[in-house]
Amino acid sequence: MKTAIIINPSSGGGRTSLMWAELRDVARARLGGALEEFTTKTPFDAIRLASQVAQSDFDLVIAAGGDGTINEVVNGLFDENNKPINPKLKLGILSAGRGCDFIKSLNLPSSPQKAIDILVSPEFQKIDVGCIYFKDEFGREQKRLFVNIATVGIGGKVAKQVRHTPKFLPPKLVYFASSAQQFFLSKPQKVKIFLDDVEMFSGPIVNVFIANGGYSGGGMCWAPDAKLDDGLFEVIIAEPIPKLTALALQHKLYDGTFLSMPGVHHHKARKVLIDTKDDVLLEVDGEQPGVAPAIFTVLPQALTVATSSSAT
Ligand SMILES: [Mg+2]
Repeated sequence: MKTAIIINPSSGGGRTSLMWAELRDVARARLGGALEEFTTKTPFDAIRLASQVAQSDFDLVIAAGGDGTINEVVNGLFDENNKPINPKLKLGILSAGRGCDFIKSLNLPSSPQKAIDILVSPEFQKIDVGCIYFKDEFGREQKRLFVNIATVGIGGKVAKQVRHTPKFLPPKLVYFASSAQQFFLSKPQKVKIFLDDVEMFSGPIVNVFIANGGYSGGGMCWAPDAKLDDGLFEVIIAEPIPKLTALALQHKLYDGTFLSMPGVHHHKARKVLIDTKDDVLLEVDGEQPGVAPAIFTVLPQALTVATSSSAT
């Protein structure tokens, strides 16, 4: 199997760089001599490198970094019409970033050594990819793919804030503190939500989750029922609730009971339109690329990922 690895050395505040320095020799020996290394140098470099890999004859491309790196690699594997550039190219994951939430939905290990075990003798799973059309900060039309979770609301503010916090702090603490701060300080914004072309909601929201995977924010579980291959988004609308109620129920962010929180509505859909007159920030796999209005569609089972039925 001809394999490429795209390493984002700065991901996780340099954790990926350290991990790869320790693991390189073992990984090269175990994955075979055909392993070709690509290292990112600037933001969005992983998109360019993945596209380059997809235009060659590789069988497997490994994303080494956090959820942002995985997102960029996936974006590089598809053309402007959302067709895979190389349909036989599969994705492997060597997770070492700051936010490593996507691997939880794939049931992949957080230990890089165990991840190598899986990449050496993988099983493959087809998963859905989400596609969003939106506008960036300059008002230009943009498209972005995602594999885990996209949000509209305070999630975008949290993503912006987390980007500027010191990288040595524990991710779970950083995401929780930032989420709590934005929840308490931000004014709810008004949106209209259409699911499969039917208006489902109109009013103020704290956050709307369009989830392919179940987890984000360093272990917060928003969509416990999320399935990566059912062709459907979990759409979770969180309306404003009294601050003290939220404070008392904060454990629900982590223990898989978020959907039973007051003001939380859960739906499933193939297509989601979030319309708004406010500039409501968008967050996509932990990045903050633009604002709603935005349209989300599912690309069913568009990506093949290396995993293992016995992975933990
Ligand atoms: Mg799904």
